[in-house]
Amino acid sequence: MAGGLRDNRSMLAYRLTEWQEPPELVEVPVPEPGPGEVLIKVGGAGLCHSDLHLMEWPADALPIDPPFTLGHENAGWIEKLGDGVTGFEPGQPVSVYGPWGCGRCRACRLSREDYCEKQAEIGDFGGGIGLDGGMAEYMLVPSSRLLIPLGELDPRDAAPLSDAALTPYHAVKRSLHRLVPGSTAVVIGIGGLGQMAVQIIGALSAARTVAVDTAADKLEAAEALGAEHTMLADEASVEALRELTGGSGAELVLDVVGSDETLALASQVLAFEGDLTVLGLAGGTIEYGAMSLPWGARIATTYWGTAVELMEVLDLARAGRLEIRTERVGLDGVADAYDRLRRGEIDGLSLIHI
Ligand code: ZN
Ligand code: ZN
Repeated sequence: MAGGLRDNRSMLAYRLTEWQEPPELVEVPVPEPGPGEVLIKVGGAGLCHSDLHLMEWPADALPIDPPFTLGHENAGWIEKLGDGVTGFEPGQPVSVYGPWGCGRCRACRLSREDYCEKQAEIGDFGGGIGLDGGMAEYMLVPSSRLLIPLGELDPRDAAPLSDAALTPYHAVKRSLHRLVPGSTAVVIGIGGLGQMAVQIIGALSAARTVAVDTAADKLEAAEALGAEHTMLADEASVEALRELTGGSGAELVLDVVGSDETLALASQVLAFEGDLTVLGLAGGTIEYGAMSLPWGARIATTYWGTAVELMEVLDLARAGRLEIRTERVGLDGVADAYDRLRRGEIDGLSLIHI
């Protein structure tokens, strides 16, 4: 849709106004950056499965409250610098780092704002998750430390990299020491994040990648993006995956779904000392018994990634190693796009192109 201001003070924004109610496209004031803050002209904002959870969860699921503008995978151009902000120029393309921590604790000083020690005190998670996000013509970013220059990458396409690529990048990187030649990494769930995960494993490691999904077209996408093997998830998957690894199992299983079924599959195809890393928020549980997992297996959840890892993701994209499959929709088409995402009809990533 056409960008630009309605007048000097208002803009359109796609906002969650009540828990468990459909978000609304409404007119809101354009924010004015205060000292230290930066106003971004939004180029793109990624649609994410976690937004569907935000629309469905009850009021007490998270320590945040509507109204706020959705969109936590954002990129755009610097529009206006607040007083005291240096090192950026108006018009410069930037990625917006999504998890907004305190910026001062040990985790934040190590660039790990996704694991900020003050998160419980802060309450909000960042723009699009409690605070106003990027599904609007402009977005206020509270500090320039949350901006990473995009260089030659186009913000209209690069927006989803800040989550849909950063989240699997963070999850894969912590297991890289296991992904030696001859090893196997299994990715369960080949939506937008899964497609990124397949490419990231291929770019960073020597492991062979096996993509698992219930939809044949998603597996075709995974193959085109470099997966050595693809497999339709069914009752024979455990045996087939075991056979593929010569009986030893996979060094890394990334569960991008996180349901009872996918967690059960993942736990049965792990190697000794294998990593089962769960990115999906489907709310499944895993059964534990003393003999139910291979010796040394590690189960982990991960949340987003660090700002330095976002720099690495952007370097990978600039090197042409990440194909970003996006479908562009306008702000007026976002409700329909979420419906299609909910029905599993979006192949790859979808983003709002402001
Ligand atoms: Zn997301
Ligand atoms: Zn912190």
